[in-house]
Amino acid sequence: MGITKKSYNQDNQYILEELKKFVKSEIAPYETTWDKENTFPLDISKQLHRLGWLQSFIPTHLGGLGLSTSTLCQMYKTIAQESRGITTSMAGNMLAFLPIIKHGSKKLQDKIIKRYLNDFFLMSFCFTEPDSGSNVFNIKTNANKVDKGFVLNGKKCFVTNANYSEYLLVVAVNKDITNSKNNFSLFCIPKNSKGVKVASAYNKIGHRSSNTSEIFFEDVFVPLENCIGLDGNGINIAFDSIQRSRIFLSSSAIGLCEKAFDITCNYLENRSIYGKPLLSKEQIRGKLSDLYTKKHAGWLLTLDAAEKWDSGDNSFVPSSMAKLYCGNIAMDFSRECMEFFGAWGLTKEYPIELLYRDAKFYEILEGATFVQQAIISKEIFRKKIKLVG
Ligand SMILES: Cc1cc2nc3c(=O)[nH]c(=O)nc-3n(C[C@H](O)[C@H](O)[C@H](O)COP(=O)(O)OP(=O)(O)OC[C@H]3O[C@@H](n4cnc5c(N)ncnc54)[C@H](O)[C@@H]3O)c2cc1C
Repeated sequence: MGITKKSYNQDNQYILEELKKFVKSEIAPYETTWDKENTFPLDISKQLHRLGWLQSFIPTHLGGLGLSTSTLCQMYKTIAQESRGITTSMAGNMLAFLPIIKHGSKKLQDKIIKRYLNDFFLMSFCFTEPDSGSNVFNIKTNANKVDKGFVLNGKKCFVTNANYSEYLLVVAVNKDITNSKNNFSLFCIPKNSKGVKVASAYNKIGHRSSNTSEIFFEDVFVPLENCIGLDGNGINIAFDSIQRSRIFLSSSAIGLCEKAFDITCNYLENRSIYGKPLLSKEQIRGKLSDLYTKKHAGWLLTLDAAEKWDSGDNSFVPSSMAKLYCGNIAMDFSRECMEFFGAWGLTKEYPIELLYRDAKFYEILEGATFVQQAIISKEIFRKKIKLVG
């Protein structure tokens, strides 16, 4: 059932069908329990690793499968149909690996990437801070140069996988750099390092099958080979990873829309208050057609961003457009589908309420709506200036 280089090369569709079977049998029946109990199902991550999915983004030159961004989008969409939390955990994990893949030292790549291909562990990407959020340049966590490394102090919040990860990838101000505009570096830290403390998990309203918490750093030593972007370019390296991950969040948002659509059609087919199913009403089918069209448009934007990413187009605009649009339509879908359930939609009887709670996260995670708008408008504005000038 797992994916190997051979099975991936031979039949892309086959491996996705196998994933669907896994999701239906191992994830779908348990998501409401994980949601109710605010539990991160670590064992599912282990199984996804055993099957080869969790590490499938590792490129071939480092020994991985190097699945295309479009195939990874399919993977995220498939899993998100049944659990948004698991895909959030996967994205948070991957975010921490990407800078090491692209910019890590050979020693760090051997220690982390090569090992991860066979051994299961999770990573956390530590960017957000209580007083920075969208304004990442206000990050206060800092690293001071010492003999053979750096010493880190600070605090991060909303860190995915925080209570379960083995390594942390931390964005911090590098005090060794005098240029105050370009002075961020990334630091890869084993979570069991002296001086690292993790709080207990937040009690979130959605994505409750993912784990999110705060992490504190007090005089944490990081050896030189675990540092990335020591020229001060760390923030751009982090942005690059986030931008790729936004494509996967968009895919997950579409997975949510697909699930909402399916359960709503099913409900309307069985709900009969005029002597025939509600689905027979033209107006209802019209509204569902609007939603279906939006979902398709969102998926096309996502695949467009995926193809551009793989073709080496390094513009941030396609993935921000996908994230902006898919985040919005996930909200539209869950709100409008919930309406179709009438009062039943406001109970825990049907999973539409869970989708409604989960949907909001796609407008906030990895850059709130404002951030995506800022990225897109910067590009449009730049082009207009060129046209006028
Ligand atoms: C489940 C979950 C998992 C997460 N995982 C991670 C993780 O693994 N690693 C990590 O580093 N972070 C993570 N985050 C943090 C997430 O990326 C941030 O919450 C997000 O970027 C928004 O930052 P903020 O919450 O500080 O909002 P703020 O930046 O405080 O923004 C609040 C509101 O103000 C708006 N706004 C901000 N600036 C402006 C402006 N200049 N003009 C107009 N409007 C503005 C925003 O659009 C937003 O609506 C996670 C969050 C959640 C909920």
